[in-house]
Amino acid sequence: MKGCVFCDIAEGRAPATIVLEDPEVVAFRDLNPQAPVHVLVIPRRHIGSAADLTEADDPLWGRMLRTARSVAEQEGVADRGYRLVTNIGRESGQTVEHLHLHLLGGRRMTWPPG
Ligand code: 5GP
Ligand code: ZN
Repeated sequence: MKGCVFCDIAEGRAPATIVLEDPEVVAFRDLNPQAPVHVLVIPRRHIGSAADLTEADDPLWGRMLRTARSVAEQEGVADRGYRLVTNIGRESGQTVEHLHLHLLGGRRMTWPPG
């Protein structure tokens, strides 16, 4: 989608530190990391948020989750644990309107989240 920074990253028009990718999904480091490991997992296709997923996207969502697991293994946090978060809409704090899973790890997470 024009003007979408994550579409630009997925299509190679904007730079990012990519840690894993396949034909449908891209994982790259967050520009403003909130933990020692902070990676974003996105679908290449523009989807606004998890609230816009359809039944046809079930395999894509599963692929995003499995990619996150692979990134956690690759980054060395799989055993100690990590957090997956996806923000949806204004009150959640979503700032980029292209579906993304935050993978946060490498430090103790707090609950409840801020
Ligand atoms: P949200 O607040 O929408 O859940 O998360 C958006 C995330 O994208 C933020 O953590 C922010 O730091 C990250 N981000 C925004 N723009 C860019 C960018 O151009 N490159 C990268 N790598 N991360 C970005
Ligand atoms: Zn997009």
